[in-house]
Amino acid sequence: MTDEIVSLAPATGAELWRAPVGDVDELVERARRAWGTWAAQSLANRIELCRRFVNELRKEQDSFAELIAQECGKPLWEARSEVEAVLARVEISVRSYAERTAQRRLDNAMQGSTALRHKPHGVMAVIGPATFAAHLPAGHIIPALIAGNAVIFKPSEKAPATGEFLVRCMHRAGIPANALQLLVGGPAIGQELVAHDGVDGILFTGSALNGIAINRKLATNPAKIVALELGGNNPIVVWDTPKIQDAATLVVQSAFATSGQRCTSARRLIVRSSLYDAVVGEVKALADRIVVGAPFDDPQPFMGPVIDNGAAEGLTESFVYLLSHGGRPIKHMVRLDRERPFLTPSIIDTTAMAERPDVELFGPLLQVIRVDDFDEAIAEANATRFGLVAALIGGAPQDYNRFWANVRAGVVNWNQTTNAATAGAPFGGIGLSGNHRPGAFYTADACAYPVASTELEQPRASIGIGLKEV
Ligand code: NAD
Repeated sequence: MTDEIVSLAPATGAELWRAPVGDVDELVERARRAWGTWAAQSLANRIELCRRFVNELRKEQDSFAELIAQECGKPLWEARSEVEAVLARVEISVRSYAERTAQRRLDNAMQGSTALRHKPHGVMAVIGPATFAAHLPAGHIIPALIAGNAVIFKPSEKAPATGEFLVRCMHRAGIPANALQLLVGGPAIGQELVAHDGVDGILFTGSALNGIAINRKLATNPAKIVALELGGNNPIVVWDTPKIQDAATLVVQSAFATSGQRCTSARRLIVRSSLYDAVVGEVKALADRIVVGAPFDDPQPFMGPVIDNGAAEGLTESFVYLLSHGGRPIKHMVRLDRERPFLTPSIIDTTAMAERPDVELFGPLLQVIRVDDFDEAIAEANATRFGLVAALIGGAPQDYNRFWANVRAGVVNWNQTTNAATAGAPFGGIGLSGNHRPGAFYTADACAYPVASTELEQPRASIGIGLKEV
């Protein structure tokens, strides 16, 4: 019997999609045969096809948003904004290719000139996550195609229909079927793809655990380029500010948007003792008002379900773990439906815990830590092996300067949510959050390698020193 991947809607449990698991060898072979032809097309042509993809997707924008809402459990308003982000990716990728990896000529008085050009790696594997199942893979697929690679895209086994929709629109735009292929499968297929000799590079978005597994698997194979976009245990620090309501709103948006299922979601609220009651009180009051509901509810909810029942169970167990190890509940995590993964936002004070687990709890669970001075706040913010995002709310400019200089993260924001990031800037973290190959605007860097050529149209040479007289 062939293995199948079955996709269920988190909100209803209804089956949305099913397909047999793909054959890695077969797809890699096709990609290897295709990539030379794709790379030999002009850059203008590859860009044109990606632009046509925008037109194709615009025609089906509403259906795509509805599918994402169903399959990923996102409120429709949020799924729509994800589709807009996918559409915007093409022009950003075109610009980023030109700025990061285009041709340049460096003048060199004695030796003619040196040309700097970039070549594609060949066959790139794009492995996608379950939440932001369209936007993040698109952010890898489009730059990899523009650079001239063939792409094998393995969407998450929890969002394969979203992945298939994306690929279908790209094919309809004229991107050749073998230059971009969909590989259906779960983690085992991901492992096989990563290890395949015919794959030249991996663009991965997912958990640190699986990113480390990929790194380990390829430790003896430095020839493959690996870009890892992993998770975080992100701090948001609230310091001196008279604007408590705004501060609390930024905290709530940071912690609970997308039901806390963003790599950028705030996991730890670090707050000055003197502001604790006001800030935490306001955060709780706002979290109490959050509507949790199904993607198509009217009026729309702020939060949908988490991705599946397994995730909901893991999160409720984590909340109980924190409780039983010294955490003080501020707002309990409640499973609203025994059958489906709807969770309320939850808040727990973990200041008194002897040891806080430094893990990414990927859902609507916010820990609160009380501190007395700013050095302690920075030390708490840095008390993690991750380093994706850190935000400071409030504080004077000199506080922000200190925060920026001392906090360890690839994204550092001030008076903005932890989620505030623009695709026009690089995005990535340090520590367990990645491997120093940031995505978004810098994704182009991982999709092509530089070739430097010193060139002169005619041979012209002399040896000026150390020769015998003739
Ligand atoms: P996940 O790690 O469970 O799965 C991601 C993908 O990897 C899936 O397609 C899965 O099938 C595949 N996979 C699993 N094990 C693998 C292995 N050993 N080898 C190859 N492929 C493997 O992650 P998820 O739950 O889908 O997504 C949530 C995670 O992604 C969170 O940790 C989140 O922080 C992270 N994330 C990071 C970013 C970023 O840009 N830094 C963005 C979004 C999400």
